[in-house]
Amino acid sequence: DNPLLSIRGLKVQFPLREGLIRAVDGVDVDAHSSKTLCIVGESGSGKSMLARSILQIVSAPGRVTEGKILFTRPGQPSVDIAGLDPKGKPIRAIRGRDIAMIFQEPMNSLSPIHSVGNQLVEKILLHHKIGKKAAIERAIGALDKVGIPNPRQRMDNYPFELSGGMRQRVMIAMALACEPALLIADEPTTALDVTTQANILDLIAGLQKELGMGVVFITHDLGVVAEIADEVAVVYLGRVVERGSVDDIFYNPQHPYTLALLASIPKLGARRARGQRLHAIEGMVPHPLDRPVGCPFHTRCAEARAGLCDRVDPATLELEPAHFVACHMRDPSIVNSSAEVIT
Ligand code: SF4
Ligand code: MG
Repeated sequence: DNPLLSIRGLKVQFPLREGLIRAVDGVDVDAHSSKTLCIVGESGSGKSMLARSILQIVSAPGRVTEGKILFTRPGQPSVDIAGLDPKGKPIRAIRGRDIAMIFQEPMNSLSPIHSVGNQLVEKILLHHKIGKKAAIERAIGALDKVGIPNPRQRMDNYPFELSGGMRQRVMIAMALACEPALLIADEPTTALDVTTQANILDLIAGLQKELGMGVVFITHDLGVVAEIADEVAVVYLGRVVERGSVDDIFYNPQHPYTLALLASIPKLGARRARGQRLHAIEGMVPHPLDRPVGCPFHTRCAEARAGLCDRVDPATLELEPAHFVACHMRDPSIVNSSAEVIT
């Protein structure tokens, strides 16, 4: 069976006057129907850019320069989204109808000057050949489905009249009104309090079950990952440094960066560490214009080997079935050789 989404060798680059930013630098990941892929990393890791590239909404001068983004609806031929014109009709038809996206701050994606109902109805009419009356009923149904009380009355509200949690629910209603095959969620709960965050995650999980959609969930929060992920991709400076099942990542982590992320949670592997930020790793993510040569993580890695990690890019190895790691020190042929360790 084809994955719903299969990304291979994806590169997104920004040619700036100051230099070339490789925001996404050769990424492979898959997402499946009814499953949640979590993309996790610190801010500046390129995870949002990766998410945006799936819908070709990378802002200029950034663009997809290489790779494939194969999207396959069940029973239909694959479409390579990377090959579509970002402004063309085919990608506009996919956006919002087949693949929907929600962001951290719904205020930025909702229009402040139109009522919630009008925005929902517009969205539905854009993608469905139904009359206005039917669209209104469908919009009310969508608000009801995301747990907004008195949805008929709420149709007349403007976004600023709603709480942050309610606005995020409206965003989800907008995203799901067309029953997309894939939902991309970029830190949708980060700005919310812990209780609202929990409610929104439960809501997404419930709707996912009901609609069978695949979810790509972007987060810096390993507590969230532990709770919702089936598959995990750990990203660093535009690279996937490790990916595997949620159990691989929490119970058999291999990449030094994954280990550092896990160590930054107060209780290692604690499944209830929701809300914990990743801050305890030494040093910072290097600026993308100062990308280290060799392994991108070598400037912060406790296991870095001089003369190797600072020179040679590690290849990605499949250590066990469907568990991939990009690290020289997990490569059996290298581990046994003798060289100095950077201290
Ligand atoms: Fe650390 Fe070297 Fe592995 Fe990179 S390749 S993560 S620097 S040990
Ligand atoms: Mg981001």
